[in-house]
Amino acid sequence: MNDILRAVTPDGYVGFDEFGQLQAKEVEAKHTTSWIVWDVREKTCFICNHGWELNHKSFKDQYYWHDRKELIHESCFKRYRKLREWSMFFNAVVECNLAFPGGLKEVKNEYGAAWNLPWYEFKWKGAETFTIVIGRRKRVDHVEIKAPTEGYPGMPSLDYRMAEKCFSEEDVTKDFGPTSIMVHAHTDEKLKAYLKKFVRILGLEKPAEKVAE
Ligand SMILES: [Zn+2]
Repeated sequence: MNDILRAVTPDGYVGFDEFGQLQAKEVEAKHTTSWIVWDVREKTCFICNHGWELNHKSFKDQYYWHDRKELIHESCFKRYRKLREWSMFFNAVVECNLAFPGGLKEVKNEYGAAWNLPWYEFKWKGAETFTIVIGRRKRVDHVEIKAPTEGYPGMPSLDYRMAEKCFSEEDVTKDFGPTSIMVHAHTDEKLKAYLKKFVRILGLEKPAEKVAE
């Protein structure tokens, strides 16, 4: 990268090079990393309604949202995506019409997609032994029922034969066993449908719904 000839921040780590490109630099140990950045000095991020601070850390926290043609904070975009994803998952669980008293608990992303957004866990009332995991994995959602592998006497296991029956029509990645029933959902609608199948597999269907089938 080229040298900064004209700094625009007091720390000297953001400035224009000889070609008039704006750069942000970061020096760690002996390594210098540079990025070409947008000039966000006069801009306001429409998500948080704040601008950028005059230092390289703040300048690096920028994202050009192509669809909206707007410059925003990358951290704000990540929060927005996280909230949007959470909201989709939450609504899918709500549609199953069963109480999940602990809500959606944030857990580690087991896949590590580009934005590394969290995964979630919850338990349905009436089947507290088992944990449901939902999380984004590239272009699909990972949905899984996990049986405890320790701490429960008698080792409760999952009805994976029932799962095989319930998902026989679904031509997607799936993995069924006594301690885990896992499927990949390709759309939001599929995620909702699969969670409803999980309700059946766990024997949580309400009597009225059983009659209706
Ligand atoms: Zn912002």
